[in-house]
Amino acid sequence: MKEVQEFLSGRIWLKEETPFPLTVIDMFIRKGFITPHKGIQSNYNSLISQKEKNQCRRCGNKKLITFQCAKCNGPCQYCRHCIRMGRVSSCTELITWSGPLVESSSQHTFNWTGTLTVLQAKASRELLHSVLTNQSHLVHAVCGAGKTELLFPAIFELLTHGQRVCIATPRTDVVLELAPRFQQVFPNTVIHALYGGAPENTNYAQLIIATTHQLLRFEEGFDVVFVDEADAFPFTMDEALQYAVQKAKKQQAVVHYITATPSDELVQQVKNISLISERFHGFSLPVPRFDGLWNYSKHIKKEKLSPKLQKWTQQCLDNKLPFLVFFPTIELMEQATPLFQRLHKEIVSVHAEDAERKLKVLKLREKKVPGLLTTTILERGITIPNVQVAVVGADEAIFTSSALIQIGGRVGRSIEYPTGDLVFFHHGISFEMDQAKSIIRAHNAKREKP
Ligand SMILES: [Zn+2]
Ligand SMILES: [Zn+2]
Repeated sequence: MKEVQEFLSGRIWLKEETPFPLTVIDMFIRKGFITPHKGIQSNYNSLISQKEKNQCRRCGNKKLITFQCAKCNGPCQYCRHCIRMGRVSSCTELITWSGPLVESSSQHTFNWTGTLTVLQAKASRELLHSVLTNQSHLVHAVCGAGKTELLFPAIFELLTHGQRVCIATPRTDVVLELAPRFQQVFPNTVIHALYGGAPENTNYAQLIIATTHQLLRFEEGFDVVFVDEADAFPFTMDEALQYAVQKAKKQQAVVHYITATPSDELVQQVKNISLISERFHGFSLPVPRFDGLWNYSKHIKKEKLSPKLQKWTQQCLDNKLPFLVFFPTIELMEQATPLFQRLHKEIVSVHAEDAERKLKVLKLREKKVPGLLTTTILERGITIPNVQVAVVGADEAIFTSSALIQIGGRVGRSIEYPTGDLVFFHHGISFEMDQAKSIIRAHNAKREKP
């Protein structure tokens, strides 16, 4: 019983895809310890306002596909939105745990000896206060402010009160970066890192670090949720993921947000805000310079690298400075890759579906490759000492001011190399580019006049 209880607590799972035999699941259903739900239901949740419309019980999606089902011998509907987690259809069941609750541990070790800057410490205290008083909190910390460590005291407090805590982030890279750090700080706490393709753990974790997508597999599971990089794609784009956060937490649970680039809506929505406008090392944020790179895509399509871009790359190579060049599309980046490889054959490109993405970033960090070409996938979550950054086509729509601020945040992160070049190559200055620059300048101005 303990195994099933630990696995299912706070989760919602396809009945036929648990790690346990169906006979065991059915036995718990008879005992009333497991509740089955129809996979597709009409308007079960008040979070969805439209009435009387069938929707997926797991992800809330209402755009369902009707098909002739061999299993139930009739017209059946399935959800395409969350299909990568196993197909939810009219004739499948999702199960939740309704038996005795798992008793969370209150015995945790806090193993952290670092120190916080004055601003970090202030934000950390303010966040702790919000946590203790059950109020939503937004930590607005510039890129490189050191936002993770200021969460530690609040999370320790929650864990020792036996609370189940989730840190959700839209990005798998961020999950992979955060999980080992938290495990080191809380060595006696069971922590799960959940992302697509992660090893499946069946035991009960009190702290879960998950992609927002994986939250779809939870229901009323968490006492507190921290959403890291709240504004990152696809969280802002995907209503279902915002819904996932609401569904994964217990009804009374509070959501806290941590980001360098909060949306206006978030700032308006959350009353308690801590602003950290200074990087942990005290140096100002790099201000982008704009440089016209006219018809860059035409040049690249004609297999030519614009002289400016060539010169910029060559300077990085000559001075042995690691670099990142951001492109608006995979297609343009792939067309440009051989052109860059004429300058240095080890220059490689990386994008979201690239299986070697982690390895390539590691190679850049270890100076085994001189530079990477990338899409916005590397806009956040990575730190490369002394990296120089160029954006090609900074005026393209994908480069929102938030994306540009995050990209700029890659530069000058380490105390040994607190500065670096940040150039936005463009075919005309966009409003978003101007906005990114003025937000960065405003943060720097606050820093200089506290
Ligand atoms: Zn679904
Ligand atoms: Zn069916």
